[in-house]
Formats: sequence, structure tokens, C-alpha cells
Amino acid sequence: MAGEKIIDEFETLPMIPLRDVVIFPGTLVPFIIGRKSSLEALSKALQVDRRIFLASQIDPTVFAPQPKDIFTCGVIGSIVQYVKANESSSDEESMKVVVEGIKRARIVEYKRIIPFYEVSVKPIQKLSISISEIKGYIQNLLKLFEDYVKHTQVVNFESILPSMRENDPEKIADIVASHLQISTVEKQNLLETINPIERILRLQHLIEKELFGGTGKRAEKKGRGKVRTPGPFEREQRPRDEQSEIEELRRRIEEADMPEDARNKAYKELERLESMPGLSAEATVSRNYLDWLLSLPWNIRTKDKKDLKRAEKILDEDHYGLKEVKERILEYLAIRQLVKNPKGAILCFVGPPGVGKSSLARSIARATGRNFVRVSLGGVRDEAEIRGHRRTYIGAYPGQIIQMIKKAGTKNPVFLLDEVDKMSMDFRGDPAAALMEVLDPEQNSGFVDHYIDTEFDLSQVMFITTANMLQPVPKALVDRMEVIRIPGYTEDEKLQIAKGFLIRKQLKQHGLTNKNLTFTDDAVLAIIRKFTREAGVRNLEREISSIIRKVARKVVVEGKSYREVIDAPDVERYLGVPKYRVSKADKIDEVGVALGLAWTEFGGELLTFESTMVRGKGTLTMTGQLGEVMQESAQAAFSYVKSKALQWGIAKDLHKDFDIHIHVPEGAIPKDGPSAGITIATSIISLITKIPVKKDIAMTGEITLRGKVLPVGGIKEKLLAAHRAEIKRVIIPKDNEADLKDVPEEVKNAMVIYLVEDMDKVLELALAELITDAIFENLRAEERKGEERLTH
Ligand code: ADP
Repeated sequence: MAGEKIIDEFETLPMIPLRDVVIFPGTLVPFIIGRKSSLEALSKALQVDRRIFLASQIDPTVFAPQPKDIFTCGVIGSIVQYVKANESSSDEESMKVVVEGIKRARIVEYKRIIPFYEVSVKPIQKLSISISEIKGYIQNLLKLFEDYVKHTQVVNFESILPSMRENDPEKIADIVASHLQISTVEKQNLLETINPIERILRLQHLIEKELFGGTGKRAEKKGRGKVRTPGPFEREQRPRDEQSEIEELRRRIEEADMPEDARNKAYKELERLESMPGLSAEATVSRNYLDWLLSLPWNIRTKDKKDLKRAEKILDEDHYGLKEVKERILEYLAIRQLVKNPKGAILCFVGPPGVGKSSLARSIARATGRNFVRVSLGGVRDEAEIRGHRRTYIGAYPGQIIQMIKKAGTKNPVFLLDEVDKMSMDFRGDPAAALMEVLDPEQNSGFVDHYIDTEFDLSQVMFITTANMLQPVPKALVDRMEVIRIPGYTEDEKLQIAKGFLIRKQLKQHGLTNKNLTFTDDAVLAIIRKFTREAGVRNLEREISSIIRKVARKVVVEGKSYREVIDAPDVERYLGVPKYRVSKADKIDEVGVALGLAWTEFGGELLTFESTMVRGKGTLTMTGQLGEVMQESAQAAFSYVKSKALQWGIAKDLHKDFDIHIHVPEGAIPKDGPSAGITIATSIISLITKIPVKKDIAMTGEITLRGKVLPVGGIKEKLLAAHRAEIKRVIIPKDNEADLKDVPEEVKNAMVIYLVEDMDKVLELALAELITDAIFENLRAEERKGEERLTH
């Protein structure tokens, strides 16, 4: 199998937006922070592990930047030192911090904005470029940088040399970048340039511009002639090396099995290269281009394995359960053998993280005998990331599609496009449109990457996409895909997956066998219940791996025959304090607090809705991140409650003298915002009637102004979540009855599911007491008393 791109995990970190500074990995940078939100972010980071995300503001003068005002590419940093900025200053809050840049990362999602920024970031993969490949470039760069430092005297060259000597070329480039006196935008540009060679060339260009003025091109001539005398290496060896290099390239072009246009382009480029000075920046650009043309698998493919029985066996070998999903995959493979380019030719797996989307794609590659490559579209916002940069600009590079095709080494790999739903669109061109073209069987046989500049045939690639949710994916793209949903696993399924797959896989990875280590079922269940709360099995696998790693250490110490059985009590010994408590006893019925079921990209989730009433003007406010998505639901629910209140003759002033606040303390953003109508209504009615809501019941459903309950999406995911949380009673809309057939028996048997048509029924089930006239009487009497007190 071809090497694949390994995607680092997302990380959630507090963030400080930087003004007029760009921080590079491998550098220590002091700066002062004064903004309240930044101070909060700092203190959050200090509470956790000192890691913080640092990204620059597009416009440094903006005081309260919004996400759109902040570059998405930044650096994960670690706080090395922090002190009060100035004891005597009136601005007593300011802090001076020193951070160390660790690695580049990209913001994938803003988790929160208030009271401080918290973002989910994805580390940017380093490109694997060999040190030998990069060394020559670095030597050139360092020579130039030395001149630059002498010339501008920004720093003492000797003083930074030691840090460079110990570092790898990538880091050296970053350190150089951090010392240049160039604009923030230019620095950001360098930060965003992932390819180290590209970055070094860009740095060279910038330094030359600083030193010699004008464009890099002229500067170079001037530079070579006037300021720098060529070193001995350059003078003596260049001509001879160049000639043999050109010959070698010519031979490779002749031998390469390229389409005609590509071959012509290659010869033309070779001619240009011949006419350039060997060490010029342009020659490097030329050489890179030729390298790319020569390394693409223009005509290399693996032979397809067509045996569907074998394919079925492989899918079963790699995955537990998923019967329907596997059937649909096999159907898909069968159709592909019969019809060339069938409609809906691209598989799309949709579901929460860790349910096996990528690993299914990998199995499909194995089953069809194809190579496998994977690229994450998370955070891709620039068309050029898909389709490449035009070669006219110095740091240009092909897009992800061509890069991965090179990595695959064949023109017919299985190509996994992960996270199509996380791709964003902005002013720099629309990556989704570029992706459409890539995926269109009518166009992709002539795919043109801007950098490669000639057609490459993608029609034999088997593209597979994944998404957590389909909603953000452009409809035209969805139309092109065959969508297969994977909603998540029940506890029992997770146990089976762990026993049959995850443990074995992790043991093997750590060089152990089941002779060294076994887990009891209770141990696995303890991990599932106390250390994970997820629809998939990603964290389960991680925790198992963490235990195995610790045992592996013992095996090293004690010898190969060391043996251990992990039982439930051992789990905490290895993993520490449980992350989740299975809490049932401490739940009491409360006024104004109702449990809702939501459907988020991480699967189903339980959300608590808390209402409170304050003096005001009869408005409804939602706090917490969910405000926007639930507005519509909340307004409908509020109107319903107001009309009920009038009818009941209580809370008469609700519409003018009081505001209702609804707070949803935590949780991911639901993808079907308007499904909390009945939960919100229940919570407010509980508040005005002062009858507590029962804690053992969770609900989902939309509401009309008249209190009818309307159907909602994601029933299966929601019930799985309720099951995970050991909820025994659930209210869902009557019109969702048909969805119950997809819900595992195990889940249905473990709870009572009420199908309701109107809000009266919801209240009857959810409130701790029936609403009766007697209650209204009491409430009215209380209200009257309250009024009297006010008027006296
Ligand atoms: P996703 O791409 O959906 O986020 P992954 O494919 O990365 O999830 O799956 C996470 C881990 O769980 C992988 O090691 C995968 O092999 C394993 N896994 C998920 N579902 C199953 C299953 N049904 N049977 C066996 N292993 C599974």
C-alpha cells in the first residue's frame, strides 16, 4: 500500500489573537496582552497544560476581532513564562508572556467566542522532504541571511547561530523568517507556506529584495555581481553539474510514459532550464516543475480485483457489524463493474467521528487491490489547495489532488477526501467548485492543476468522501454522491468491536500478543462507561491503547513472558480518575430544567435546557452557543407558552414585564436546530407553573404555535445517546414512529418510548405533577399577593 498522509487529531485550545506579530514554530516570542478575552484565554491555558493557540489578526487595529478578522493559520504555542506587565501601571491587568511556538495548525472551528476564544485546531502535516533534498537550499539561505543580518543589524548573527545548529532545516527556515523585518502579511504568508522548500525560496526572494531592492530577479543579478562574490563551490562546479543534470533530465523525459502535451511541456521547460544560471531561483522553479511532471503516475495503475466474495470477506475481516453499510458497499462495487461512471459514482460516508468511515475506505482499497491515499479537506478554504498555484509565482506548488496522486504512485487509487463538510468558502475562490470538477466523471479525465498546467486523467480514481454532516456540503456536490449513513454504535456493539478488533489491533501495534495481556468484558465496559462518551469508538481505542502502552513497558522490564489480565478495577489504576460519572442518584427534579435530545455532528447528545425569569420587557433570550440555531424553535415555543398562560390566567405579565432566559450549558451545536421546541416549552411552563420537570425523561420534537408536536430528524442517533446516558423514558413525535424500525432492539428494550401528538401529552409525561385548576388557583393567589405588595 502506498504511504498515506497521516492526519493528526484535532485539538481544542484557548486562543489569543495577535496584533502585528506572527509567531513561528521553534521560536520564543515575548509579547504583552491586555485584552480581557486574551487574559481569560491565558488563564484557561495555564489551568490546563499551558498550550495555547496563537493566530494573527488581519487588521491589528480591530479591538474585538470576530473570527473573520483572524487568520485561520497560526501556531500552537506553549506558555514559557508570564508576569504582570507593569506593577505601577494603571492598566494593572496587562501581562507579559513568553511563548514558544510549537507547530503550525489551522483553525477548524470556533468552539466559543465569549468570554474568550476557544478553537478546534488541526495541526498541519509536515511534508516529508528529505534533509538531503533541502540542505542545499538551506546553505544558500543562511549565506544570504548572514548578509542580511550584517546589513540591517537586526540581531547578532552569532547569537542565533547555536539555535540554528541544533535544528532541522524546517526550523531554521522558520527562525530566519521570524527575524526578518517584513510586514505581518508577508510573515503570515510564510507561516502558511507549508512546503519548506517553497518557504526557503520565498525567504531568499524576500531577503534579496531587502538587500538589493527591486524585484528578486534584478536583485539577484545585482547581488551576484556587486555585493556577493560567488563562493568557490558555485564557480567551479556549476557548469559541469548542470550539463549532466540536463542530460539526465532529458533521458528521464524520453523514458517517461507521458501524454503528448505533458511531454511537450517537459521538453520546453528543459530548454528554459538550460538557458538559466544553475543556482538562480528561476532554475529551481523550473527544476521543481520538471520533477513534478516526471514523478506523476501518468500511466501506472494497479489491476482491479473484481472478486466480490473476496471483497465481502475483507470488509468483514476489518469491521464488526455494519451489515447494511457493507451490503451497500458491495452493491456499489458491483455496479462499478457493470457500468462505467455510474451516476452517484462517489461514495460518501456520513456519521460522527470514530464510526469507521475512513477505515471502511481503507478496506475498500484492500478489497479492490488499489493503493490508498487520504487527504483532509478540513479547513481548506482556498481553491489553490485543491487545484494548485500558477507557476508564475515563486512559491507555487500543485494542489492536494495532484500531490496525493503522486504519493499514491498510481492513477487509479482509492482516494479518500475526508471531511468535505469542513471545507470553507471565501474570497479566494471556491474550493467546492474545484472539488466538483475533480469529482465530475464528465470532466475529470482532463483535470488541470494550475501548477502542472496540463491535463491529468483522474477518471480511474475511486473517490470516497466522508462528512460528519451533510448540511454544509453544497447540494450540487451531494447530488453527485451515494450517501451511506453510519449513525453510531450501542454499548454492546462497542464491546464487540473492542474485543474483536481494537484490542487485537493495538496489541499488534505495540508488539504484544494476547498471551501478554487480556481484557475482561467488565474492563472494556468500564472504559466505555467511565472514560468515553461518544457515538463511535475513537476514544475507546485511544484508552485501550493507553493501557496497552503501559503494559508494554512492563513487558520490556519483566521479560516477554510477562502476563496480565485487565479487569474493571485495573482500568482506573491505569487510566486514572474516570472522566465521566454514571450519575443517576444525584439527579433531582427541578423547576425550569428539561432534558432535550439533539442531533449533532458527533452523534446524538443530551442537552439540558434551563429557563429563568427576570424582570424585563417580555422578550426571550437564549444564552450559550446555541442561541442562533434554536431561535426559531424557541420563539415558537415561547409564543405557545404565552397563549397558554393567558388561557390559564397565570403569569399575565409574561408578555410585558418579564424576560425569559434559556440557557444550554454545554454541548456541541445541533445540526437540526429546530428540534428542541417541546423541550423549551416544557422548561418554560415548568418555570411559570413552578412544577418541576422529571429528570428521568428526555425529549425531542418541534412545536407549532398551537402546541402540535411535529416530527424531527436523527431519531436513531438521539435514542442511542439517551441509551448511553441510561435514560429510561423518552418522548418523541408520533410522526417519527416509522424511524423506530432502524433503532437497535437492545436500545428499544431498555427504555419506554412515548409517541406524542400534542404538548398537553408532553406536559402530562414530563412534569412531576399534573397541571390542575387548583394549581392555577394557587398561582393566581400568589401573583395577586405579589401585586398588592407592589402597590402598597
Ligand atoms: P471515522 O473515519 O469514522 O472517524 P475511523 O475509521 O477512524 O473513524 O475509526 C476509528 C477506529 O475505530 C479505527 O481504528 C477503526 O478501525 C475502528 N472501527 C470503527 N468502526 C469499527 C467496526 N465496526 N469494527 C471494527 N473496528 C471499527
